[in-house]
This record gives sequence, C-alpha cells and structure tokens, in this order.
Amino acid sequence: MEHGDPSLVVPAVAEALSAEVVHVNSEVTPYGLQRDHRVGARCELIGHEGVYVHPPGSILTNQGDPYKVFAPFFRKWRDPEVRPISIPDGTRFLAHPGTGLPESDPPAVESGETGAVARLGDFLERIDRYNHERDRIDLDGTSHLSVDLKFGWVGPRRVVAEVEKRSPEAGFEYVRQVAWRDFYGHLLATHPELAEKSLDERYRCLEWRDDPDEIASWKRGDTGYPLVDAAMRQLVAEGRMHNRARMVVASFLVKDLLVDWRIGERFFRHHLIDGDVAQNSGNWQWVAGTGTDAAPYFRVFNPVTQSEKFDPDGKYIRRWVPELSEIPDDLIHAPWECDPLELLSYGVELGKDYPHPIVDHGMARARAIAAYETARGSR
Ligand code: FAD
Repeated sequence: MEHGDPSLVVPAVAEALSAEVVHVNSEVTPYGLQRDHRVGARCELIGHEGVYVHPPGSILTNQGDPYKVFAPFFRKWRDPEVRPISIPDGTRFLAHPGTGLPESDPPAVESGETGAVARLGDFLERIDRYNHERDRIDLDGTSHLSVDLKFGWVGPRRVVAEVEKRSPEAGFEYVRQVAWRDFYGHLLATHPELAEKSLDERYRCLEWRDDPDEIASWKRGDTGYPLVDAAMRQLVAEGRMHNRARMVVASFLVKDLLVDWRIGERFFRHHLIDGDVAQNSGNWQWVAGTGTDAAPYFRVFNPVTQSEKFDPDGKYIRRWVPELSEIPDDLIHAPWECDPLELLSYGVELGKDYPHPIVDHGMARARAIAAYETARGSR
C-alpha cells in the first residue's frame, strides 16, 4: 500500500499502471473536497456517488431546499419515486476494495470487503432481534457495519437491499438508522461548518465550563459513574462504543460537565474506528441540542437510569470496570448509594478503589438547563 500526499501518490500510481482515469467515491467533507480537487488537478478523476444511499443534494423539499429535520427527510428518502442510483450495466470490478485501517495488534476489525460481507451475513442471521435488542449495551444486537460503511468496504445501497430482502419488517428500524447516516452526510454537504460551529446560532455564546480536570476524568473513564467509565475505557481500548453509550457519555460531557461539544467530538473522532466527520459531528450536535434537528436542550440523559435500563445486570460495566465486578446487579449502577461497609465487603472503598462521582447529576442537570436558557435569552 502506498502512503503520502494523495495529490502526489494517486497520479504516480495511475501513471505506473498506465491508467487514464481514476474513479473515486465522491466526498462531502471539507478535507475530502479539497483533497480531490488537488488530485484532480494532476490526473483525471471521476467521482461516483457510493458513500450514501442517495447522493447529497438529491433529497430536497418541494421548494427545492435541503431538509433540516430528519422525519420529512426520511419520508422523501423512502419515496419510491426517488430511486437510488445503481451501478451501470456491464461494469466490471478488477480488484476488491483495499484495506483502510492502520495496522494494530490485535487487529481492531477484519478489514476490506471480506470482513464486511462476513459481518453483513452474520447480522442478517440475527436481524429479527434488532428492534428489541438494538438499544441494549450488554447484548450483541446491532450490525457493527458502521466501520464498513465508513471505509466503503460495503456500500449502503447493498446493505439496505439485503436487509429489506431478508426481513422488511425487522429491517425497517435498521434502514431508518442508515437514513440518519445519509441525513448527516447531506447536512455536512450543505453545512461544511458542521464540525466547527453549533448550527443553532443561539448556542454559539453558551458559556462552557471546560474544566481541564473533569475533561481528563471523562477521557480516562474515571468519573465515578460506572456506565460512563465503562464506555470511555472501551473507546480508548478498542475504538468502539455502542450507540446508546455514545449518547450517555456525550450527554454527560456536554450537559453534566458543561464542556464544549467540540472537545468530545474531537476525542471521539480520534479514537473511534468508525470515526467520521459527518456522523460524529452530526450526532454530537444532536446530543448537545445545537443541531438543526436535535434533542431538546433540557433533555439530559441520567447516567444511572440509562445504566439500569440498558445494562440491567451490569454485565457491560463488569467487563470494563473490573474493580466493581463483585458489586450486586442492583447496586452496581450507583455504588455511592451503597452503605460504605457493605461496599467494602465487595472490595470497594470509594475514593481509593473507585472514584466518588465527580459531579452530582441533579445539580449538574439544573446548571446545564440554566446555562442553555441564558444562551437562548430565555432567562
Ligand atoms: P446499527 O445499529 O447496526 O446501525 C446501522 C447503521 O446505521 C450503522 O452502521 C450506521 O452507519 C448507521 N447509524 C446508526 N445509528 C446512527 C446514528 N445515530 N447516526 C448516524 N448513523 C447511524 N457513527 C459513525 O459511523 N461514525 C461516528 O463517528 C459516529 N459518532 C457518533 C457520536 C455520537 C455522540 C453518537 C451518539 C453517535 C455516533 N455515531 C457515529 C452513530 C452510531 O453510534 C454508530 O453509527 C453506531 O453505533 C454503529 O454501530 P452499528 O453499525 O452496530 O449500528
């Protein structure tokens, strides 16, 4: 595999292969657009719309404007009149898509088309469970295909077609998630500042606290909230995290600690194996309430009730926060509520073996809502 400046490497490889034209997937990220522009100045580059089900810019309101809200976007996206583009007849592929992840030990995930097709096949076997298991952090209920879609090892149109063929009913909710992926890609195409600024301008003056010690605790998985800590430790160790856990830790950073969502977005993007500008910033702005179609500003995820609901036996917590593994299921979500002597019998002294919570959730929730209301001018 060649490495280096794409505007030098791509034309050199094309020339070495006597290729007249280079075909690529079109990009919507500011970096990708600029890169392809530079490469295109040195060799003939033809872009294709393979990253999303529908090409960015093709799903518009009846007035011809891009959608800002997901529900009507999704209705139009599913409209049978709006046909996804397909591969032209007679197209022949000479080689499989290459690999995309840096080498790691152990490998983060089997890369390339072979791994993607195996993961898709495995998911199709258990798709009937998706609707009721997809939110459970402790179960293996989702497809794990985000990394394949990110690197183009499998195309979203193929995934949607195979899922709908296998189970139209169970597949509906799954396809809706893939539509969210399109939504954020289309949003980035029309809002290149998605990763840089709150799209809802009222929140650009929000007074973040950005306490360095608290940010460091969040990054290390040392906040004293077991679900938050488990998820952050998994992120750093494996580059993965369940969607529900992503929402909980993001809400904890932005709302409980009042930290600028861009700090969390950068940290996620650095560590996630599926890290992607459109999906990551779109979702961070959703959680922060600063996007065009976002969670209401007063929605603050409760890290304890989320833990009780989506990791009811504490199985996920035990895996990533082993110092809490002896604590019974009903107490593991909030160890500070347990009598200290009883906690000691499970091998845990707070402040020594595991931290006290770095913030009181009730106080933090009220503080966040007040800060958001001040920024909105409603205080
Ligand atoms: P499944 O449940 O099997 O979903 C199927 C597919 O739909 C996924 O592969 C993914 O492509 C898409 N999808 C699912 N949920 C979402 C969503 N909320 N938004 C957009 N697309 C979705 N996803 C990324 O691909 N890259 C990121 O950098 C990223 N950052 C995120 C940051 C935060 C704060 C949050 C809350 C979510 C983020 N997501 C991101 C979305 C989502 O968490 C992952 O796509 C999902 O966890 C991947 O697991 P899966 O493939 O098993 O999902």
